[in-house]
Amino acid sequence: MAISNHKLPPEQYDINFADIHPPYESKTAAQVDANHCLFCYDAPCTKSCPTHIDVPKFIKQIATDNIKGSAHTIFSSNIMGAGCSKVCPVEKLCEGACVYNLLDEPPIPIARLQRFATEKAMEQKWPLFTRKPSTGKKVAIVGAGPAGLSCAHILAREGVEVNIFEKEGKGGGLMTYGIAAYKVTPAFCQEEVDYILSIGGITIQYNRELGKDITVSELQTQYDAVYLAMGVGVARQLDIPGEELEGVEDAIRFIYDIRTKGYPAVPVGDKVTVIGMGMTAIDAATQARRLGAKEVTLVYRRTEAEKPCTDVELNIAKLDGCEIIWLAAPKEVIGENGKVTALRCSKMKLGEPDASGRRSPVDTGETFVLETDMVIKAAGQVPFESLIAAEKLANQKGRITTDEHGATNITGVFAGGDAVNGGKEVVDAVQAGKMGAQAILRFLRH
Ligand code: SF4
Repeated sequence: MAISNHKLPPEQYDINFADIHPPYESKTAAQVDANHCLFCYDAPCTKSCPTHIDVPKFIKQIATDNIKGSAHTIFSSNIMGAGCSKVCPVEKLCEGACVYNLLDEPPIPIARLQRFATEKAMEQKWPLFTRKPSTGKKVAIVGAGPAGLSCAHILAREGVEVNIFEKEGKGGGLMTYGIAAYKVTPAFCQEEVDYILSIGGITIQYNRELGKDITVSELQTQYDAVYLAMGVGVARQLDIPGEELEGVEDAIRFIYDIRTKGYPAVPVGDKVTVIGMGMTAIDAATQARRLGAKEVTLVYRRTEAEKPCTDVELNIAKLDGCEIIWLAAPKEVIGENGKVTALRCSKMKLGEPDASGRRSPVDTGETFVLETDMVIKAAGQVPFESLIAAEKLANQKGRITTDEHGATNITGVFAGGDAVNGGKEVVDAVQAGKMGAQAILRFLRH
């Protein structure tokens, strides 16, 4: 067993990381699907979308060959509608709510249709929005992820100058750095950011980090308002013996490396164990397989019924050949010469429901040992608690506290997205950015 890079022939990487959701081959194919939509009144698909995209309207516009209008409908509600069409868990959102499910028929492929219209707009660089005359107001945004970009685009449309401070070298946040490359490629993420910025009035200062290069109080004095959208980024530790051994890695770091260093450069074990069952765990496990790991095992302390990932994500892992062990929790990482050789796990059973409503895992006292040379931790992320406290922002364990409009305890400083909710879907962050922009516009008018 060994952790190494370049495990595969060069051409195999492109095959393994090819787009998992191929687009329509023709407009006619998209229109055939669009014409199956029932264009429901009070459409449940729209209601289940966190950004409330008018789904029957944009599908009708595709059916009637108004692709530009369709893209405008989508982007008006969700400026990251192209990316969301690739990464949203649509089976539990719009497509899960489609009335065809009630007829035991496949739902309308809403995401694929959304991708068709939005990618056409990006490809053609259609200028679908214009800016209102300048208001003379300036807003600083911290974080060029989905919440920050969504907020920035609405403010720019309303004639506000926006300056975004981003700690990474590229925009897009989680979309660019935290999602499997076979769902959204780095090139696509760059195109999406460029398309959003093409409205004008938004500048991004890269490699500028809150707490190091800038502070909230500095921004507050230099701008008319501030929006904090820096997300969450610190991986939760397992707090078990052996966690410091060589070969134990954070899933967030592993995925980040895949997206920034290039596939062949990223080392991966032969027998990889991934702890967790959320989207990040699935993305780490499937990509470990696609990088050339011979065996990948996902370990989760509850059962399939309580898993946080969707059935679709779980199926991707299964199709990639990942093994799954339910009702198992990591107890000790075992090593030799400073390197991981095995993981001891506790066998669990389900007890009473916890605060999340899911039945809690209870240790049975029995253990088993899994041979492994790499352990990837994907047990969630924790907020930037000390940074938030240092900036004197009211918070709950590092999650910024806001009122219902996104206002923090500091006048003129607003916050939204994962920094407030602790980590949800990309589409939730886009909606938070919209709400934050509306609150800032009301604040600027007074
Ligand atoms: Fe069309 Fe399904 Fe939405 Fe009805 S629920 S409008 S059929 S996509």
